[in-house]
Amino acid sequence: MNQERTHRVHKLLDDADLEGFLFLDRANLRYLSGFSGSAGALLVSRKGATFLTDARYTTQARQEVHAQNICEYRVQLDGILEQVNQLGLQRIGFEADSLPYAMVERLRKKSPHGCQWLPEAERLRSLRWSKDRDELSALEHAAVISAEAFEEVLPLIRPGVVEREVALELEFAMRRRGAEEKSFDTIVASGQRGALPHGVASDKVIASGDLVTIDFGARWNGYHSDETVTVAVGPVSAKLRQIFDIVLEAHDRAIDAVRPGVPLRDIDAIARSYIREHGYGDYFGHSLGHGVGLEVHEHPAVSAQTEVLAEEGMVITIEPGIYIPDLGGVRIEDMVYVTADGHRRITRLPKKFRLLPA
Ligand code: ZN
Ligand code: ZN
Repeated sequence: MNQERTHRVHKLLDDADLEGFLFLDRANLRYLSGFSGSAGALLVSRKGATFLTDARYTTQARQEVHAQNICEYRVQLDGILEQVNQLGLQRIGFEADSLPYAMVERLRKKSPHGCQWLPEAERLRSLRWSKDRDELSALEHAAVISAEAFEEVLPLIRPGVVEREVALELEFAMRRRGAEEKSFDTIVASGQRGALPHGVASDKVIASGDLVTIDFGARWNGYHSDETVTVAVGPVSAKLRQIFDIVLEAHDRAIDAVRPGVPLRDIDAIARSYIREHGYGDYFGHSLGHGVGLEVHEHPAVSAQTEVLAEEGMVITIEPGIYIPDLGGVRIEDMVYVTADGHRRITRLPKKFRLLPA
């Protein structure tokens, strides 16, 4: 295991007074061990780390995994308990946010007497907050792939084209540039559908006078990009143009405020109060942003509820929006990296008002 990441897990063991920790979450497995497959387990104690997987993945694990021991199991639960026994662990933490309840029950039932399985949520959430140089360059590369793909597909966004077609072409363009996968189902929401914050591309035909919101991203080397652009297809109504300008200004102001030590809830408040002051507070119902990394949505949340302060190394999104039923909507999203004295944008596309020919 990478030294800094090992250090983070050992600190978790100390803080939570645990002898060992069982990781099963895919993103955590990849982060801590390097394993990119879908079935494995990592048991970390102060004596070292053991990676466990089944016969389908043993070869892959030997190539990818940095752990003192690699073991093969036939039945995952039995393999884990055998290691727990061998190491004599009594107080073992598990990922409370992602481990199925039934699995916890089985672990408890089959464990030797005196062995305690302890849920850990809060302390685990900060494990992957701070990105190192390799992670940052993977995120930046994913953002380059998605930006280039978008510019390639832009001429296709015109009246008469179906939303789903735009999404498909965008996905192809990202894959051709080396994306492993799209980050999530591409959102293409045009005209009135723009009022749906999660309007996955549909059969709707894009029309002149529509604003089109496209929220998309590429996964590269396990890391995700996430970016939203709203463009105008032909001249749009004064009201749509007005909400575009409000969202853009809210987005710019929130990004300007990002630097270490600033409460994330204050960044949310900057965008939210600007939108509210302009009369659209009721039309911005979601939080301002989220962390991005090995998962497209990860901690910390950039919301009114969070207690977290911005910290050097975090990568968060800033994505205000206004969604008006029966009219349309606007969202503008960028990923930003928190630097020692401010921030740097990771996503590349220009966000100013773009009027496409109709
Ligand atoms: Zn997004
Ligand atoms: Zn997002």
